[in-house]
Amino acid sequence: MQELKLEIITYPHPTLRHASKPIVRVDAALRKIVSEMFDLMYAARGVGLAANQVDLPLRLFVVNLTAEKGTGEELVFINPVVSRPKSSEEAEEGCLSIPEVYGPVARPKQIHINAYSLDGQEMTATLDGLLARVIQHESDHLDGVLFPDKMNDSAQATIADDLTALESQFAMRQQASEIPTNDAIAQRLQDWETKYC
Ligand code: ZN
Repeated sequence: MQELKLEIITYPHPTLRHASKPIVRVDAALRKIVSEMFDLMYAARGVGLAANQVDLPLRLFVVNLTAEKGTGEELVFINPVVSRPKSSEEAEEGCLSIPEVYGPVARPKQIHINAYSLDGQEMTATLDGLLARVIQHESDHLDGVLFPDKMNDSAQATIADDLTALESQFAMRQQASEIPTNDAIAQRLQDWETKYC
């Protein structure tokens, strides 16, 4: 596999709609990818980043609630499973892949998470607050779900123009070959799945 240059892809890049399969192997290249994902996330001042946001069909995401390198805790979730949702809470969300778009999303307030760390350690916890929300947002990414999908109709209407603008921008960049064709994108995802899933 060639040297990788990761970057955060934006809506409506098709990889954001890809449902990722579980990872079955972790190697040095994957560790390097995770470390680059943290760097990209910090550069964009984000608190979470899922692998398909850097155009990789891998069931993993990274989180640091401080959004700042060297502070807080760097968390890596491999093959996460969210369960046991309890009560509901609405809060404003944004996404590094949908720049400058924000909106209210209702989600379970408390969840149970099961996942693996980079060194294969199984983690399990019951969580609430911001961490629970971020984990749900990032887990959604792994299933190809974006936060506007979870907004109610009237909230969706307020961001419809912003999404349309991103769609035309993307179409222009793809026509200009700055972004590969959908077929090329799908082929690349398949190659990655063959290697890691
Ligand atoms: Zn996101």
